[in-house]
Amino acid sequence: MSSSIENIEKVLGAKRFGDRSAQIDWILTDSRSLCFPEETLFFALKTKRNDGHKYLPELYERGVRNFVVGELPADMKSFQDANFLQLANPLKGLQKLAEKHREQFQIPVIGITGSNGKTIVKEWLYQLLSPDRVVTRSPRSYNSQIGVPLSVWLMNERTELAIFEAGISEMGEMEALQTIIKPTVGILTNIGGAHQENFFSLQDKCMEKLTLFKDCDVIIYDGDNELISSCVAKSLFTSREIAWSKKDNERPLFIESIQKGAHATTIKYRYLGMPNEFSIPFIDDASIENSLHCLAVALYMMVSPEQITERMARLEQIAMRLEVKEGKNGCVLINDSYNSDLASLDIALDFMSRRSDDKGKKRTLILSDMLETGQSGKLLYRQVAELVHSRGVEKIIGVGEEIRTAAARFEIEKYFFRTTEELLESDLLAGLRNEVILVKGSRAFHFDRISDRLELKVHETILEINLNALVDNLNYYRSKLKPETKMVCMVKASAYGAGSYEIAKTLQDHRVDYLAVAVADEGSDLRKAGITCSIMIMNPELTAFKTMFDYKLEPEVYSFHLLNELIKAAEKEGVTNFPIHIKLDTGMHRLGFAPEEIPELIDRLKKQTAVIPRSVFSHLVGSDGAQFDSFTRRQIEMFEAASECLQEAFQHKILRHICNTAGIERYPGAQFDMVRLGIGLYGIDPFTNQIIHNVSTLKTTILQIHEVPKEETVGYSRKGHLERDSRIAAIPIGYADGLNRRLGNGHAYCLVNGQKAPYVGNICMDVCMIDVTDIDCKEGDKTIIFGDDLPVTVLSEILETIPYEILTSVSNRVKRVYYQN
Ligand SMILES: *Cc1c(COP(=O)(O)O)cnc(C)c1O
Repeated sequence: MSSSIENIEKVLGAKRFGDRSAQIDWILTDSRSLCFPEETLFFALKTKRNDGHKYLPELYERGVRNFVVGELPADMKSFQDANFLQLANPLKGLQKLAEKHREQFQIPVIGITGSNGKTIVKEWLYQLLSPDRVVTRSPRSYNSQIGVPLSVWLMNERTELAIFEAGISEMGEMEALQTIIKPTVGILTNIGGAHQENFFSLQDKCMEKLTLFKDCDVIIYDGDNELISSCVAKSLFTSREIAWSKKDNERPLFIESIQKGAHATTIKYRYLGMPNEFSIPFIDDASIENSLHCLAVALYMMVSPEQITERMARLEQIAMRLEVKEGKNGCVLINDSYNSDLASLDIALDFMSRRSDDKGKKRTLILSDMLETGQSGKLLYRQVAELVHSRGVEKIIGVGEEIRTAAARFEIEKYFFRTTEELLESDLLAGLRNEVILVKGSRAFHFDRISDRLELKVHETILEINLNALVDNLNYYRSKLKPETKMVCMVKASAYGAGSYEIAKTLQDHRVDYLAVAVADEGSDLRKAGITCSIMIMNPELTAFKTMFDYKLEPEVYSFHLLNELIKAAEKEGVTNFPIHIKLDTGMHRLGFAPEEIPELIDRLKKQTAVIPRSVFSHLVGSDGAQFDSFTRRQIEMFEAASECLQEAFQHKILRHICNTAGIERYPGAQFDMVRLGIGLYGIDPFTNQIIHNVSTLKTTILQIHEVPKEETVGYSRKGHLERDSRIAAIPIGYADGLNRRLGNGHAYCLVNGQKAPYVGNICMDVCMIDVTDIDCKEGDKTIIFGDDLPVTVLSEILETIPYEILTSVSNRVKRVYYQN
């Protein structure tokens, strides 16, 4: 729904500079997601970590002319013919705009909050309710102070029902979300411990969440949950309640029985005394709980019990993430089996365009008819075509009657098919080469068959990397820094085993100041893959200076020999003012200039112009051990004095840095100008050995299961003695994959369906055996070597080593698979 800039100015009560007329269709808060510059209004938001004002020039350059700002840019002249709406707090403005937008609608709005399950409940409600009405809902899990207003803005003339999620991390936040969403139906999914650090008690958190339901007509929750029930009673709502219960048959929705089968669960219930039943194709408790919330809403929305039964049986798993997989013939596959509508298409295309920026692969979209938008064909496909063009898609493969009819709108290489079968029967898929392929289809088109065809089938052992967790870790450490402190992120050793390119790209997108690798080749590989962020080389080889100059890789310099060779090489190449990083030895006694050598170093540096010190640093020996605290303090003092001495000799600013991950955590006073984050990025707190947000999961699948009687042995050298009749599973991972041989013979375990399965006998090169006697499992089941529920630190403790070693030992033949929520 579009709005004039005058209108928005009035709603926001903003001070306006500029008089360009404009119609606004799109609201933008993340400059990277820009798509339609002309019709976009950019809100320059300040968050703990970033400031949208920084991106004004770039956005203007890309054609944006409408901005909401806290402060006007200093050089207004370079923003000719732009509109600036100035407000004390642009975030409040964004929320206000959404609030006014919401007020135009007299329709049911469902608000969902709770600790888990919000997105699934939202999507399932969509699956249950959208056959009868046009539904607008939050894209993915947009549920924050910024995500909620962006979601509400999506309501338009056709919307008949809206479903929004609301998530909070602190006291006091829900009120703002309530004002924007104004739900008429409220669902509280459950209450758990997430973000508990910011609340006094679970009860406080529950009360805070209930704020969302202030003016609801009805609220829905688990009546058997005493905490929630007592909070609802305390909050004195006058709204109707549908508290479902498995115990109390006085409740309006009584769950009589829950019967789990092999693949489905049958649930019998009584609503207002009437008995009925339905089945869902899931058997886990979370899905059952989520389905009960959905049942309550569907009943309240007058969906007939027969339709509920029919639709519940067809509920689909929600793919919460975009999966990136390696495809055949050099292709990269982005699988988005999430809903097929404009908002999620936009997010997926945005993801694709950011990923493939400079990798020289053609961008291809395989798209079906969009059946889940509630929009008419003509307008819809015009918008799809605009998105496709503006996001830089170079080839489209359309599947379905509707999109085929709109073929003429796509002015790029294009192919159209009536059905998925028709595409599968053609030879088009086999001919895709060196492309980034986004596969996005409505459920009815079963595009999983297409992905399956395109995917490179690999070794069943993979290292799965959660890029969101990586970003969460980055932000966790950023939150410990002063706003002006810069950050180097260590991506050496293939990003501690996680794979350098994807990690570097993600960090670059999150605007870290420097990446650091060990050797020049690691750096040039990143450059060739399109990484433009500043890169530091920690162990520059004397033979690789040319590579460093060519790719602008800034070396660490730790000795006069290295310095002299570098200067010589730079002078020969005609390079001047090449940035270098001076390393001082303050106690590690590995590499570095001694503090006494600084005067001579200054002298040497002043006599030439080939290189210039960009930073000076040192490395802490024992920042992760309290027993070394006095030594660490001495290192910091020594560094402070020595680096100051170097700085005083130069006019330009030389960045000073000494903290690694543990240093950031434990020596907040030693941040200087910059810090170097390593292991913490990958989720490990080196001081406590706890996991912050788990990034890497090493997983495989069971190849074969044998029943082995107790007198037998398992594996080489008859090491695996069985003390009982056992079920022994073989999994395709061995010491050549990085599974340490010393974990064998019962020293450690992996997880099969969440249960501990000890390693039996010697670990072989490519395979090992585990005891699954007490575990309900079958061939093909997933096995976790380390990950969320079996932290890598458990293995490092057993092996008496550090988690760094385990992470970097996962061998190259183990496929890295990346995903984002
Ligand atoms: C690897 C490395 C780091 C990072 O250390 P973590 O303990 O992983 O945070 C920092 N500085 C230097 C010089 C390094 O080599």
